[in-house]
Amino acid sequence: MTMTLKSIPLLDLKAQYESLQSEIQAAVLKVLASGNYIMGPYVKKFEDEVASYCNVKHAIGVANGTDALLLTLDALGIGPGDEVITSPFTFFASAEVISQVGATPVFVDIEPDTYNINVKSIETAITKKTKAIIPVHIFGQPADMDEIMKLAEKHGIYVIEDACQAIGSLYKNNKVGSIGTAGCFSFFPTKNLGGYGDGGMIVTNDDQLAQKIRILRVHGSNPKYYHSMIGYNSRLDSLQAAMLSVKLPYLDNWNQARVEKAKIYNEALADLPIQLPYVKEDRQSIYHLYIIQTNYRDELLKYLKEKGVSSGVYYPVPLHRQNVYLDLGYNIGSLPVAEKSALGTMALPLYPELSIGDQNYVINMVRDFFNLKKEGK
Ligand SMILES: *Cc1c(COP(=O)(O)O)cnc(C)c1O
Repeated sequence: MTMTLKSIPLLDLKAQYESLQSEIQAAVLKVLASGNYIMGPYVKKFEDEVASYCNVKHAIGVANGTDALLLTLDALGIGPGDEVITSPFTFFASAEVISQVGATPVFVDIEPDTYNINVKSIETAITKKTKAIIPVHIFGQPADMDEIMKLAEKHGIYVIEDACQAIGSLYKNNKVGSIGTAGCFSFFPTKNLGGYGDGGMIVTNDDQLAQKIRILRVHGSNPKYYHSMIGYNSRLDSLQAAMLSVKLPYLDNWNQARVEKAKIYNEALADLPIQLPYVKEDRQSIYHLYIIQTNYRDELLKYLKEKGVSSGVYYPVPLHRQNVYLDLGYNIGSLPVAEKSALGTMALPLYPELSIGDQNYVINMVRDFFNLKKEGK
């Protein structure tokens, strides 16, 4: 008897597009007919929508999430000789931007259960050179913002939230991104609010900071052709903004669907030798990724692949052990929780359109793997 093999992706972007096809196509055609392709009214509209969604005064569209972080650091005057504290367990961009402005990334260890930056470790890493902390709300789970803000106030340093994986996540009923000096979002297609190309946004309640970022994103000019600073070409284009405007009203429902599916995984996998995602009580994750940790990670990845289930490793190399950062001098064992997590974590398929049947298949395959292990096969 031959079994038809399933093929379940980690994330299905086409399914989401198909569910909104006519609305998105109408938005695209409108932009094309408008003659207005970079910035302009569609970008302004989407900025206003995100500002209102996050309950902040300013939202500034830029070319991508990396630039959102970069322009914020630059606008805050952070540069050579400065230190910025961040997590080693994140996408490379969280630290890359620190280096891009000429400052030095200072990595501190993470919590073993949430994978977020450990506040106690932040405190011991603060020096006279520390200008900012970049907490990353990793996999959608909000970091310990109250404690981080308290530390930052005590030491007079900025907090830039890397909320690229967490648009819509709540920390004590506040949207992440709205708590620090500024918050940064990415609209890379795979993010919870994904465009059809690159896009990013900065949110802040600081008028001066917002004004400076608005100037920086257009070559440091205000008005046009009058340059007061060295800036960037980092604008959000109208097509992305118009399509993201179509998608934003659906975001909370999509995030909720992820939360429900995460709960199904949590219950179905609870008895296995797996560390499941942990979200603290006073906050809500949007489950950008459903991350499990196991000592049998590589074997499980291989088994699932054979069974047609896509998975992924987030993240295989913590940033302090990346080749480009070896000269910073973080030896093996210096940030042990991040290093251990990098050896054991992996993502299971999770997206709003994941069907019950497909999710059950994933669950059965994970359970089969551990049953076979138990039987010594
Ligand atoms: C995706 C991501 C970024 C960068 O966003 P881009 O839009 O790809 O530039 C930064 N930080 C984190 C944590 C991310 O996941």
